[in-house]
Amino acid sequence: MVDFTPAQFAECAAQIVEAGRDFAQRGWTPATSSNFSMRLSADRLAVTVSGRDKGKLTPADIMVCDLAGKAVDTDARPSAETLLHCQIYRRYPEAGAVLHTHSLAQTLASRLWAQAGQLELAGFELLKAFAGYTTHDARMLVPVFPNSQDMQELAELIDRYLQQKPITHGYLIDGHGIYTWGEDMLSARRHLDAFEFLLNCELELRKMQR
Ligand SMILES: [Zn+2]
Repeated sequence: MVDFTPAQFAECAAQIVEAGRDFAQRGWTPATSSNFSMRLSADRLAVTVSGRDKGKLTPADIMVCDLAGKAVDTDARPSAETLLHCQIYRRYPEAGAVLHTHSLAQTLASRLWAQAGQLELAGFELLKAFAGYTTHDARMLVPVFPNSQDMQELAELIDRYLQQKPITHGYLIDGHGIYTWGEDMLSARRHLDAFEFLLNCELELRKMQR
């Protein structure tokens, strides 16, 4: 069943390519790490092909897969962590784009708050950058999950968490990076930007408090 048009795929691929170039310039995607996706339809997504330099993506580096992470109409292999993208699309029908990067701040924060299992962001004006947050006087809990090379295992761990409470709007993986999402690429990028800034704030504050 084809439930999206070639033009739709081309538009998503263009947005993913542009995001990759921007994030790479900012140093958030070292050594071919990171992966990005956009929802094409209820059960199809456009996702980066495994192992490509995210600063030099072309539309040929974007492929289609289903919500189980299986490649559709291509021999290309999707990013290793595609299952985690699929999980977000399945859990949040309103999610239109998922971004995963490995910036220095994301990686350091994930290490620092791994033991606590979560990081609380509170009191920052920039919390208003997140969908549904209308005041700085809000709290956001960012879960930190232990890393694993077994994506099935990691997805199950995150699923168990999601059964208890929702995640708004992202999570960290220890020693690894961040996942965030939004209703479209624009809002997912706004969330990623805000997380990056706020994680840097928390890291700097910690240094000053020593
Ligand atoms: Zn990763």
